[in-house]
Amino acid sequence: MRVLLYFPGSALQRWTSALAALLPEAEVRAWSADAAPLDADYVAAFRPPPELFARENRVRAVFNLAAGVEAMLALPTLEPSIPIYRLEDAGMAEQMADYASYAVLRWYRDFDVYAGQAARSEWKQLKPRRKADFAVGVLGLGEMGGAVARRLVALGFPVRGWSRTRHPLKGVSAFAGPDGLAPFLAGSSAIVATLPLTAETRGILDRRAFAAMPAGSFVVNVGRGDLVVDTDLLEALDSGQVAGAMLDVFATEPLPADHPFWHHPRVTVTPHVSAVTVRDASLAQVAEKIRRFDRGEPVTGRVDRDRGY
Ligand code: NAP
Repeated sequence: MRVLLYFPGSALQRWTSALAALLPEAEVRAWSADAAPLDADYVAAFRPPPELFARENRVRAVFNLAAGVEAMLALPTLEPSIPIYRLEDAGMAEQMADYASYAVLRWYRDFDVYAGQAARSEWKQLKPRRKADFAVGVLGLGEMGGAVARRLVALGFPVRGWSRTRHPLKGVSAFAGPDGLAPFLAGSSAIVATLPLTAETRGILDRRAFAAMPAGSFVVNVGRGDLVVDTDLLEALDSGQVAGAMLDVFATEPLPADHPFWHHPRVTVTPHVSAVTVRDASLAQVAEKIRRFDRGEPVTGRVDRDRGY
């Protein structure tokens, strides 16, 4: 079997060698725009250039080297009948749970406020919040959201979860579908968005969503930047309806230097690091998926083009 690998930047050769070591029975090659087509059976890639699929026309399956597939689905050269498989956790869920619990605890315990006071040598104790009154809502309860919700439950927060289909998760109040969104938001003092970007989720965190939350709520976005309508979030922050936000993903990345999020006093920006791809775990998972596919065995993590994730 022949496997073509694409990964942006200087890591391409290292990723290719690592996959080749895991699949000694295969010919594994790095994509190069200058080389002749490989006639690859399989492609493992993250945000590949459209030319790749224009030139490789014997591809039987694609293995996305990320959890989010919106960029792969947007490629006009990728034949819709070719199945796409995505990464499932592969070492990212634990990182996501760490990030979300840090964001929520930092906000819930006013550590930002204390950091500001400390910078002014100001000794002042704030009235603590009560955990029972501080429910955290997790949007998306898949690999990432499920791990986030379980971790927040373990930390003792009342946790609510919203997904497309209802998920019974221990300790999590379940909400589902478009009708479940407003009641879910109404009871969430903080939200953590772990949704994929699809036609249905684009712009879902807009003025209406922020207005549905209790006044003074906190927003964490680790899904995709386009889930949020930036101008609506800034307006909600300025009115106090949303009191703070921690954002890891943005409509344009890197976040442009003149974007108001950078300098907003109640916004924390991180550069898309809430859950980075772990090379060895990801390639081990992809190698196993390729082998199973090649043997005609069931493979998990197939992307549903109609749903968009
Ligand atoms: P996943 O396992 O497919 O889970 C997606 C979840 O979103 C599911 O619970 C799904 O509901 C829910 N969902 C999808 N569309 C919905 C809709 N219209 N309404 C309500 N719920 C909806 O995906 P994952 O592995 O958790 O990854 C989720 C996303 O996280 C990725 O797509 C990517 O964008 C993002 N991500 C970001 C980073 C980072 O570093 N910032 C790293 C990894 C992933 P059902 O359960 O009912 O299907």
